[in-house]
Amino acid sequence: MAESLKGKPVADAIKAELTEKVASLKEKGITPKLGIIRVGARPDDLFYEGGAKKTCQIVGMDSEVFEYPEDIDQASFEKAVTEIGAKKDVNGILMFSPLPKSLDERKIRSLIPVEKDVDCLTVGGAAKVFTDDATGFPPCTPTACMEMLHFYDIPIKGKKCVVLGRSLVVGKPMAMLLLREHGTVTICHSRTENLPDVCKDADILVAAVGRAKMVTADFVKPGQIVIDVGINADPDNPGKYCGDVNFADAEPIVEKISPVPAGVGSVTTSVLCKHTIMACEMQNS
Ligand code: NDP
Repeated sequence: MAESLKGKPVADAIKAELTEKVASLKEKGITPKLGIIRVGARPDDLFYEGGAKKTCQIVGMDSEVFEYPEDIDQASFEKAVTEIGAKKDVNGILMFSPLPKSLDERKIRSLIPVEKDVDCLTVGGAAKVFTDDATGFPPCTPTACMEMLHFYDIPIKGKKCVVLGRSLVVGKPMAMLLLREHGTVTICHSRTENLPDVCKDADILVAAVGRAKMVTADFVKPGQIVIDVGINADPDNPGKYCGDVNFADAEPIVEKISPVPAGVGSVTTSVLCKHTIMACEMQNS
């Protein structure tokens, strides 16, 4: 049976560290604050927002939600985002996406100050991540995967790492973070040939495809570490969700595997708070 790489102990360790950091910042009269920008009220956004607010509260930092109707016009929203970006007390900004089609999302994202871009929404933020600039913040999800690997003492240096998915929010930055720690990285996507064989060759396999249970027994091998980023509606259990990995297939074969739910997804809001606190420290140094 594979070791289960649960997210909760990882998140708890991060939160304990952040609680101490916030306490020492508060002694200097500084309280870090996360600003959350939301247009509309998608259930997934509200769920994540609730988790982010709760994590902020646990570690002792502030959060504020800036909520707008779906029919907000471009000029009004640009003005609002610019004003939030200029707020001295807001150290980090999370903005839910995609924005409604009526808005120019690229333009809106560019209004977020790079030093407050704690989830890598801006081109400037991404440039920092891809140039290994330590003042930049990679997106929270791939960072959460790295926190998992570190917490469970999984070596990366020299290992064959396969990232399944090449999105800007998960796959590409995930590959960069593994490369930064000297993994030998392969990125796979929908045009990759012999996909099961490429995945099977990995020491560390990160699945971020958004296809329920796509990674079956023929993608994995004994000794492998599998990190499942996927959050999909479970076709076999209505109302529940599942990962990109067919857990029942892979778990008896591999060495360690992160479950869905209770895996990577449990760590992301702690990373969001960590990034905001780091941003706050940099803004006050
Ligand atoms: P995207 O849809 O943006 O990207 C999916 C990637 O998977 C693309 O690169 C695509 O390839 C590739 N892909 C799709 N189908 C196949 C296939 N059949 N074979 C090989 N590659 C394929 O998704 P995201 O990166 O945004 O998200 C990935 C998953 O992670 C989703 O389940 C999402 O819900 C989850 N997620 C979880 C988070 C968390 O906190 N745990 C946060 C963010 C996302 P191509 O580029 O060729 O189209």
